[in-house]
Amino acid sequence: MQLVNKNSPAPAVIKAALAALILSLTVLSAPLFAQKAIDQLTEAAGNVEIPYALPPANATMDRVAPGLNVYFISVGQGDSEYIELPNGQNVLIDGGPLSTSDSGLAKFLAQKNVKEINNVVLTHPHADHLNGLKYVFTNIKVDNFYDTLMDNSGSSADEALRSQAQASGANTIHPAPGDSLSWGSGVNAKVLSSCPEAEASGDGSAINNCSIVIKLAYQNSSILFMGDAQSEVEATILQNYASDLASDVLKVGHHGSKYSSTDAFINAVHPKRAYIEVGQNNYGHPAPSTLNRLTAIGAKVFRTDMDGTQAVSSNSVERQQD
Ligand SMILES: [Zn+2]
Repeated sequence: MQLVNKNSPAPAVIKAALAALILSLTVLSAPLFAQKAIDQLTEAAGNVEIPYALPPANATMDRVAPGLNVYFISVGQGDSEYIELPNGQNVLIDGGPLSTSDSGLAKFLAQKNVKEINNVVLTHPHADHLNGLKYVFTNIKVDNFYDTLMDNSGSSADEALRSQAQASGANTIHPAPGDSLSWGSGVNAKVLSSCPEAEASGDGSAINNCSIVIKLAYQNSSILFMGDAQSEVEATILQNYASDLASDVLKVGHHGSKYSSTDAFINAVHPKRAYIEVGQNNYGHPAPSTLNRLTAIGAKVFRTDMDGTQAVSSNSVERQQD
């Protein structure tokens, strides 16, 4: 600890007293003694200022604030969102496209020292959402696995992951639209869309439209996670939940593609911040028309390919009075 003298050099006797008190602060752990020492230190210090330690270089990766924290992880072309719940538990929605230990997700989880994830969600069985979850189930204890009953008939990776999840001892749950997930008191996690009945398809749009869509609300803030849901699902959600769609933050559907984020839907959600999880790709994600629609309603748009991993806290997104 460095002591900074504001005006004039502290007399040697005060310096010596401070050194002794700092030593006793280190040695004595009983709060009573520590408080007494702090009081004495404050008295003796006079005009001596003790600076706060600088935040660590990786401070943005630390817990942002008490409450609900959401991280949009930069994983390349794919989706992965990590959530710290107010009760101390955590959620991972999708794992991005890579299952290696040097992936964006693996590095993020290592940096945060995550050893257990209470709730893992696979929005839908496409590689850019699924592959990173292989790494998760191999290396990290998972309590609950939220999955759809959509079988991607063009791939065996979904069967493999589902077997791995089952073998790990995780509890597999297939949420239905309208379900509320038990993610702790004060948190409202509502499923707005999913495919809870068994079906199989090799069609990309059909699989995207099975995405588990979740609206997460805590105190005065809310975040809508769209997975890769496209305009057909948006229309159904609009029909069923029109009055409850407004959200402060939107995880934009389908990497900002032109097949999602219709005018009607974006107007109903009316997010202040819109996050697009996207990397280098040949699909034209994000579509300029989608970016225009988002900025036209005043949303601030963040992209993981340009802005890197992004964090947002419930404390910073409370809805302003209209
Ligand atoms: Zn995707």
